[in-house]
Amino acid sequence: LDGAVVTVLGWVQSVRRQGGVIFLILRDREGSLQVTAHKEGEPTAFKALEGVDEHDYLAIRGWVSRMEKAPRGVELVPAEVKVLATSTRKIPLNPRTRPGIDKRLDFRSLDLRNPKVLAIFKIRSSALQAIRTFLYDRGFLEVNSPKIIASATEGGAALFPLLFYNKEAFLAQSPQLYKEQLTAALEKVFEVGPIFRAEQFRTLRHLSEVTSVDVEEAGVTYDDVMRLLEEMIAHVHKSLADSNGDDLEALEVKLPRDPRPMRRCTYDEALGILKSKGSKVSWGEDLSTAALEKLGSLIPGYFFITDWPTASKPFYIRPKPGNPDLSESFDFMHGSLELASGGTRISSRKHLVQRLKEKRLNPRSFEYHLRAYDYGMPPHAGFGLGLDRLLMLLTGQENIREVVLFPRDPKRLTP
Ligand code: ATP
Ligand code: MG
Repeated sequence: LDGAVVTVLGWVQSVRRQGGVIFLILRDREGSLQVTAHKEGEPTAFKALEGVDEHDYLAIRGWVSRMEKAPRGVELVPAEVKVLATSTRKIPLNPRTRPGIDKRLDFRSLDLRNPKVLAIFKIRSSALQAIRTFLYDRGFLEVNSPKIIASATEGGAALFPLLFYNKEAFLAQSPQLYKEQLTAALEKVFEVGPIFRAEQFRTLRHLSEVTSVDVEEAGVTYDDVMRLLEEMIAHVHKSLADSNGDDLEALEVKLPRDPRPMRRCTYDEALGILKSKGSKVSWGEDLSTAALEKLGSLIPGYFFITDWPTASKPFYIRPKPGNPDLSESFDFMHGSLELASGGTRISSRKHLVQRLKEKRLNPRSFEYHLRAYDYGMPPHAGFGLGLDRLLMLLTGQENIREVVLFPRDPKRLTP
């Protein structure tokens, strides 16, 4: 473009005045550009730039000029400058004082102008695109299920209640039952949507509202959906390697281009490994954070823990035929971080009712759901993947708040 006349819009990243010259770095989402105005050569533009400050938003028309010494080998010689918006207050986020996450979240839109923060959300967008592309290619239909619901999916207490006209309703903790019903006609479905959890979380990996990638497929078992999930994650890695190299570099993250193979270990094997390393774990329980940390330190990369005790999983998970104390279920892990849970589902009404009772849930409050099982419900399996947890991993972040634009937790409801 050397010699071409262009118009650029962007924020002032920095401005330096040196005698009769103003050097300005203009930045937009895609990068930065040096603008150099000489008092002698470009008097009108020089005058307009004299008053600008960091974070002002400008439109500049000028000539592109090849310039070896400029940061990107090119600079803009301005002819006309319009200040479209000024930054009227003192900037609360000074990169030199390294503001903490809370302060940054209070000023999130401004925080996002930081190239490293921006890189996280470019990766998030690309990962989401890769997931969608992968599932569309495999013949899945994207669906949207309601988020305002009448009762708990799994009977758990951790729901946000709300007033629905004159009735009590809740925010959905999962699209689980809806996606299962949909396999009876749509066969292969997925949904990317919010799920709401009302526990009093105080960890770096829990939020009250997160984005879930839910997948459900007719005519398959947990074995098939584990393979699907494995291939989907591999596709995300490949896509990011192909299209987000700069962003990964900005974050100093090195992702394997192909993260396979991913080990599968049964719950019993996991317990064996933990016991052999001196951990105290008893059969039948969910694995504690300490146990998962231990296991995660012993198994590299992504891995599956399969065949959990039936009692530790929700009512809709299918017990293993011939060994009903174990279930056709899995958790998908990386280190000690749980990324997804899934399994083969029960597809007979009778069996579901039995499991609901065993879980001390009232089958009558699930009648609207059980009804669907009276008319040729295919066997099916699926999983729910926490998109935010996956993003923590893909962007090398320890705190889930870093990968969610406007996070919600027990202490945060704004912005
Ligand atoms: P955890 O045991 O880590 O609290 P979970 O087993 O309760 O998770 P599931 O109901 O299995 O979660 O939900 C499926 C996936 O959704 C999880 O593997 C996780 O990636 C994500 N997820 C669920 N709840 C949260 C939350 N509060 N914050 C962040 N991610 C979540
Ligand atoms: Mg889980």
